[in-house]
Amino acid sequence: MGVKTCRECGKQLPEGVRYNTLYCYDCIRKHHIAAMKRYREKHGDRLRAEDKEEYYYYKEHGICVDCHQAAADEGYTTCTACRAKRNKRSEKYYKKKT
Ligand SMILES: [Zn+2]
Ligand SMILES: [Zn+2]
Repeated sequence: MGVKTCRECGKQLPEGVRYNTLYCYDCIRKHHIAAMKRYREKHGDRLRAEDKEEYYYYKEHGICVDCHQAAADEGYTTCTACRAKRNKRSEKYYKKKT
């Protein structure tokens, strides 16, 4: 089948999205904001921070939350390349610290 595109705007979805992902982040966000607005009007302002939404979107759809371009590895929220980068960074950090 090849490349998947957003059903609403036709934008190409990142590689590795789940088979049941139909919309890009932007469109999901639009829908989500509308839904949140309705929710707030009903229940007040008690929802999770908006900047977390992007993270959850990619996480829930099996996409790397760091680069948004590659499929996340099984059991992880990031792809192999980004995890390697992160590990290098924390290695440096620990070396500095000790
Ligand atoms: Zn879209
Ligand atoms: Zn990545």
